[in-house]
Amino acid sequence: MTFRPGDTVGFVGWRGMVGSVLMHRMEEEGDFAGITPVFFSTSNAGGEAPSFRGVEEPGVLHDAYDLKALARLPIIVTTQGGDYTQKIHPELRARGWNGLWIDAASTLRMKDDAVIVLDPVNRDVIDQGLERGIKDFVGGNCTVSCLLMGLGGLFRQGLVEWTTAMTYQAASGGGARHMREVLKGFRDISGSVAAELEDPASAILEIDRKVLDFQRSDRLDVAEFGAPLAGSLIPWIDADLGNGQSKEEWKADAETNKILGLDGADRVIMDGLCVRIAAMRSHSQALTLKLTEDIPVEEIERIIDQDNEWSKVVPNTKEDTVRDLTPVAASGTLTIPVGRIRKLAMGPEYISAFTVGDQLLWGAAEPVRRMLKIATGSTEI
Ligand code: NAP
Repeated sequence: MTFRPGDTVGFVGWRGMVGSVLMHRMEEEGDFAGITPVFFSTSNAGGEAPSFRGVEEPGVLHDAYDLKALARLPIIVTTQGGDYTQKIHPELRARGWNGLWIDAASTLRMKDDAVIVLDPVNRDVIDQGLERGIKDFVGGNCTVSCLLMGLGGLFRQGLVEWTTAMTYQAASGGGARHMREVLKGFRDISGSVAAELEDPASAILEIDRKVLDFQRSDRLDVAEFGAPLAGSLIPWIDADLGNGQSKEEWKADAETNKILGLDGADRVIMDGLCVRIAAMRSHSQALTLKLTEDIPVEEIERIIDQDNEWSKVVPNTKEDTVRDLTPVAASGTLTIPVGRIRKLAMGPEYISAFTVGDQLLWGAAEPVRRMLKIATGSTEI
């Protein structure tokens, strides 16, 4: 099967968090003009298909579990989630479907016959994959992709021996319902002390006690996160691997090395702790890097800045940091700011860095959007 501009592309998961951002980016870039989109739903088959700028005849929503309908498509783009991929992808392939599967879920990422897509970093791997007839192209883990968009230059030049990342990951990383839960949480917590907040004379310790009581009570909805996130944090993301490490933490080493095509002695060691915080959007990471050599901070900054058009060094001053190096500053933009770069007290090869990136853009929707353009032979991404 070959892929061309004008191909019919099936979209599954278009109304979720990642899917919504993907649709928005495709509207912005006029991507619908180059394809014939068909929309699927796991919950509303037969309903009205969404109307996006550039989509001429939205039609109706097709059933995302209808294997016959899916098998007619040359390309499927799914941002629906891992359970969907796990169920549908093997059944489609077992039927002999030979189309292109472009996915945001982690399910297929580490399979030998899947390529993790992040084209500003590994376009060569993607092109080789297409030439070799690879049919599964999967967006990387959000923190890994944002990290490599920011600091990829140091990794590609073989300057990193190991890295630890302590992450601060936004609520939207869990999806649309998680985001609503944390916002409602803030609303309900503040509602529990509304009268005291209006009264400037009320005792702050009493407010603090009431808030804590509320957070610990069953009046705070924790259905999605399983623990209070509003006004708190949760130092565990994704499954428990049983060895003290979370699956999110495991992904850093596994996916970074796969994206960069590093093997054996070339592998970069990566480990750290992944923490969910109540930011709405954009994942942050505090990094310690052990470099392979002692190079000046100015040179490190130059390599980071010049690596791609989206990485941007933020000068290591208080003023620049609080203005440009926060989730609020990065959200909704493709820029990946990298700051707090300095040599650490451990020695001249040890540096710190802090980076924050909109995980819904470079961490999810953007690599998927660009992969679709690459696959359909678009010269402009
Ligand atoms: P999500 O927001 O939960 O959306 C997934 C699906 O949930 C939607 O397509 C929709 O399917 C259904 N849904 C049910 N209630 C909904 C509601 N109130 N609003 C919107 N959709 C609702 O999940 P996601 O965060 O986009 O993640 C999708 C995949 O991308 C996952 O595999 C995730 O691991 C991966 N990913 C996510 C991020 C991130 O930052 N969120 C980053 C990288 C990768 P129907 O329309 O069929 O009902």
